[in-house]
Amino acid sequence: MRTSIAATMLTVALSAGLLAAKAPIAMASTLSRAVAENDHRQPAIPHPQQQAAAAQALADFEARAGQKPNILLFIVDDLGYGDPGAFGGGEAVGAPTPHMDRLADEGLMLTSTYSQYTCTPTRAAIFTGRLPVRTGLIRPILAGDSVSVNPWEGETSIARLLSNQGYYSLLVGKWHIGEEEGMRPHDVGFDEFYGYYRAQKEYTQRFDERRYPDLVLDDDKLERYDRIKADDNLIHGLADGTTEVVSQVSSIEDMAEGDARLRDYTVDSIQRLSQQDAPFFITHAFMKVHADNWPSEAFRGASPSKYPYKDAVVEVDSYIGDIVQALEDSGELENTFIFVTSDNGPQMDSWPDSGYTPFRGAKGTTWEGGVRVPGIAYWKGMIPPGQRSDGLFDLMDLFNTFATLGGAEDGIPQDRYIDGIDQTSFLLTENGQSHREQVYMWLGNQFTALRMREYKMHTAVVRADDGLRWIDMATVERTALAPWLFNLYIDPKEQMTVGHRRNAWQASMVAEAGAHRATFEKFPAKNIGLE
Ligand code: CA
Repeated sequence: MRTSIAATMLTVALSAGLLAAKAPIAMASTLSRAVAENDHRQPAIPHPQQQAAAAQALADFEARAGQKPNILLFIVDDLGYGDPGAFGGGEAVGAPTPHMDRLADEGLMLTSTYSQYTCTPTRAAIFTGRLPVRTGLIRPILAGDSVSVNPWEGETSIARLLSNQGYYSLLVGKWHIGEEEGMRPHDVGFDEFYGYYRAQKEYTQRFDERRYPDLVLDDDKLERYDRIKADDNLIHGLADGTTEVVSQVSSIEDMAEGDARLRDYTVDSIQRLSQQDAPFFITHAFMKVHADNWPSEAFRGASPSKYPYKDAVVEVDSYIGDIVQALEDSGELENTFIFVTSDNGPQMDSWPDSGYTPFRGAKGTTWEGGVRVPGIAYWKGMIPPGQRSDGLFDLMDLFNTFATLGGAEDGIPQDRYIDGIDQTSFLLTENGQSHREQVYMWLGNQFTALRMREYKMHTAVVRADDGLRWIDMATVERTALAPWLFNLYIDPKEQMTVGHRRNAWQASMVAEAGAHRATFEKFPAKNIGLE
């Protein structure tokens, strides 16, 4: 009982934000299997035999292919965990996804993949391997926002690491991590950028008189809105600084074809890059299915549901099929590691233009509905088909994993805390086990939750006043005396707390949260003005 009381007191301290700089650095808890290598890397669960097997498989691949593997990352914007057929959606929710399902069936389906709670933080975390609270990129940068410090100062992107190893790194699609000089994809490590800086709603609202009549039909407001002068172009940029406007978004219909253009660019780039000796790293970041969805003319009514969101899911899935086909046609499929995911849970505020999650909450929260996303790893000939795992995978782990695949591990910075974990052996070996023991969840600059194994502890929760609007009519509340503790295996919807009376591990979870907070003492969080 003594442990329980101490744990409760620490919880109260955590909940109240009182864990100050003098707090002792907590030892790893009894529950944790993770081992700390040093003080600036997230502790990981070692699996030596599995790691040796993966290293051998990669060495064999390199000898066979004569190069490091290509890497292709698909990020769908705001896709729900329950949207792909492989994850229980597809036909069942009016939008079949045969291409994503095929990659899942013939690869590794990850059922406990975690994003951050919204767009910018997730993308920043993937590219830097660091929690948004460390880099300061704690929420989306919106039109009219200005940041006080370039968030990329002192950060190293995975694109930079791979480019330094001879990769050609290309980002096609949505960026959303700054559009001023010095913050653009081609300024921070990508050799090339072809896409849009922001979410598609920020482009179409200027023209959408049905949804925003008080803006579009009011000359005075429209004139003021245009003064923000946010970039509204499809941009092509190169690492030498060359930045060209490909075309300006001129209408809803124009934005509707955005993803078709991006698909064409990636397909063409694969054909071009397959002729070269260097491996490539392509991030294909869809504009869809972020609200407001306007499907391409070719996909209007393409889903059984006929709703724009569902048509957009079918469209995105079709383009994934086209791009994978381009790899096959150019002889690169067996040379390419592919990962498919979403950057956060569905945005329920825009319902019915929103995805489906079987979990509680949605985008904007650290309930499972906000941060648990589809994760599919596919590599023909390297990942055994039909693999399934509930091992924990944080999308930040892609940073370290891509570095290992590309032979760039030595480039990972040592002077800052890296939250990502190398999951190469988890993904590549048959029945591979995850190296990740903890997933820490932050809402902006507030620590709110921790998952370990099948347990999840909340020290603060988002509550939606009307049950659906998890962003626009929601509040954050600290939990009271005890944290809210759920067992996700018996209660995946986080509805029935087990508390300390039905769970032996609350004290361990609290200690882990304390140890996590302690990492910020040596490596303080950055503030870039996005409060
Ligand atoms: Ca998003």
